[in-house]
Amino acid sequence: MTNNTDQSVRVRFAPSPTGQLHLGGARTALFNWLFSQANNGKFLLRIEDTDRARSKEKFVDQICESMRWMGCDWEEELVFQSKRDELYAIELGKLLSSNSAYRCFCEKDELAKIRSEREKAGLGYSYPGTCRTLSKADIKVKLETDTPNVVRIRIPDGKTKFFDSIYGEISVSNNELDDFIVARTDSSPTYNFTVVVDDNDMSITHIIRGEDHISNTPKQIILYKALGYAIPQFAHLPMILGADKKRLSKRHGATGVQEFRDQGYLSSALVNYLALLGWNPGTEQELFSVKELVGEFSLERVLKKGAVFDNRKLEWINQQTILKMGNGDIFEAVKNINSNWGAGQPDEYLISVIELMKPRSKTFIGLIDSSHYFFEDP
Ligand code: GLU
Repeated sequence: MTNNTDQSVRVRFAPSPTGQLHLGGARTALFNWLFSQANNGKFLLRIEDTDRARSKEKFVDQICESMRWMGCDWEEELVFQSKRDELYAIELGKLLSSNSAYRCFCEKDELAKIRSEREKAGLGYSYPGTCRTLSKADIKVKLETDTPNVVRIRIPDGKTKFFDSIYGEISVSNNELDDFIVARTDSSPTYNFTVVVDDNDMSITHIIRGEDHISNTPKQIILYKALGYAIPQFAHLPMILGADKKRLSKRHGATGVQEFRDQGYLSSALVNYLALLGWNPGTEQELFSVKELVGEFSLERVLKKGAVFDNRKLEWINQQTILKMGNGDIFEAVKNINSNWGAGQPDEYLISVIELMKPRSKTFIGLIDSSHYFFEDP
């Protein structure tokens, strides 16, 4: 993929509002946003809130706030999956009527028993296909007697291949894929199904998301084909790792975007740092303005290897960003964090404190904390 204007690029970020925006999600959002800007495309935001028990409105607000703080503004209306049941029902009907999906009346316990027996025997489990060949008459009887059922996709024979912009060609033998559930007993649709219906409905051209979704992609491609949708281009981003090379999580310290904001990091510094997590500009340059990032960004330069989060590097970038700022802007930012800072002192004196402390401060909070002695009588 190269930067182009002849194809209208539409990308999206699709967080589940079950927590605040963390670095991994923020990096995915940023890469989507940069890609859209670099290609004169549109960046959309979709809230994946079908898990009603775990989704919280406060997290939707936090995610939106963090995105705006980072400058990753989205276009068009925010899409909520929880408001799209009607569309999912229509598309589910299409899958059933084309026989690409079927109703499965197997009992959970019965399947759990088969699973545990197979696992005990050291064998893998996949749905045994009991309901794959039920006759129309059998189905009718079961439905008339209100037998609980789920809807399963009928995985076709053969292979599913796709070209990932970062990982290259990926091919999976379909017999490794289970006839997975697309709608549960209460007819609520599952993730792989809603994501495909929505991405098609939103005319998404490029799906840029975490590498943890690679294994979902063949399943989704089967759904794209079954529904007759055009298949978008996929690009899976490498994981962000902690210093121990394990997937970055709370164990490694702060991971929430708002935590970094509250620690006094500048959004432009965090954006600069996140852009370097898994993307290689191809030069030694490490400090980028947002404009430069938009100009330079391409998926071809995203690395396959997991990117290690390094707080010291983020601090360094933040410090360099502060150094480039005018004293007046720093003064304003510091006063925004703590309006009491240097209270009673003339502005010129405070500006001179800033000038002195600027090269020694990794963040504004650091500057505030270490400038007390300028205001206290020894
Ligand atoms: N809601 C999914 C997640 O938060 C993202 C799905 C996708 O990007 O396809 O991991």
